[in-house]
Amino acid sequence: MYSIKKMVQPDNFDEAWELLQKSPRNVILGGGLFLKLGEKSINKAVDLTHLGLDFIEKVDDSIRIGSMVSFGRLEEHKLLNDETGGIIRKSLETIVSKQIRNMATLGGSIITRFGFSDFLPGLLLLNPTLYFYKYGKITLEEYFALEKPLTKDILMEISIPLKKGIGVYCTQKKTYGDFPMLNMALFYTEGQYKIAVGARPGRAMIAEKTSKYLSAHELGPSILQESQKILLDEIPLSTNGKASKRYRELLAKGLLEKCLKEIKNENRYSC
Ligand SMILES: Cc1cc2nc3c(=O)[nH]c(=O)nc-3n(C[C@H](O)[C@H](O)[C@H](O)COP(=O)(O)OP(=O)(O)OC[C@H]3O[C@@H](n4cnc5c(N)ncnc54)[C@H](O)[C@@H]3O)c2cc1C
Repeated sequence: MYSIKKMVQPDNFDEAWELLQKSPRNVILGGGLFLKLGEKSINKAVDLTHLGLDFIEKVDDSIRIGSMVSFGRLEEHKLLNDETGGIIRKSLETIVSKQIRNMATLGGSIITRFGFSDFLPGLLLLNPTLYFYKYGKITLEEYFALEKPLTKDILMEISIPLKKGIGVYCTQKKTYGDFPMLNMALFYTEGQYKIAVGARPGRAMIAEKTSKYLSAHELGPSILQESQKILLDEIPLSTNGKASKRYRELLAKGLLEKCLKEIKNENRYSC
């Protein structure tokens, strides 16, 4: 359990950022869920609730989402889900419970870049741009590639380009409330596939070659087999306490087949 000496609610970003820099023990408070699991002794917990970051807003062909928006709101937002193939809702509803999802924030879940995240593979496929107070603009894929997470900056909001299509999310967990042993998100639009694999156990990454191969071929048993081979060649998988590398390899093949079947079913249904 963590302890907090003092809670502060800054009225502007400058003040919040200054507070963060003053001590390694000053941290931003999102939903507080993950911080709570640690043993951290926090000096000042910087609560962003006065900074107006709890918004979801459509602007032209994209949607802006403030970093204090909860998973609960994201999964229920009709426009966001209708315009992104439902992939956000489908990913989020696999996370533990509605109570947890109502507390977990967008900001706390992106900053940490957790490999086990159910949310990040699907989000990665939507190619969002992140807006940090000091660092500025960066895509999620670029943020994943940074050597260290930007825990001394403030993630203010993200922007997602809206794209009609079909999104599916497939995951394998030991029990419903557990973290994934492997997960996969797939977005399909106008004959083009885009696949992301997470909980490898490393953080989610896009399977570029597999996506290209599938987009260039009519799906059938031999194409499926070849795409599974390409997937295993391009996506590094390894062993941790959740699953062995060998088991993840088997799961990767199975999840790819499952995701493709779901796309096919939804495609038929939506025609
Ligand atoms: C019991 C439990 C089970 C879970 N199971 C799953 C699961 O199965 N699948 C899954 O995907 N996730 C799971 N999660 C993770 C959860 O979904 C959230 O991703 C996680 O709790 C982080 O969100 P938070 O808002 O609570 O962040 P916090 O704990 O508040 O913060 C996490 C970190 O982010 C920093 N931070 C927060 N907001 C910002 C910001 N705007 N700018 C900069 N830094 C910021 C904090 O300082 C901290 O370092 C689980 C969490 C718990 C507690």
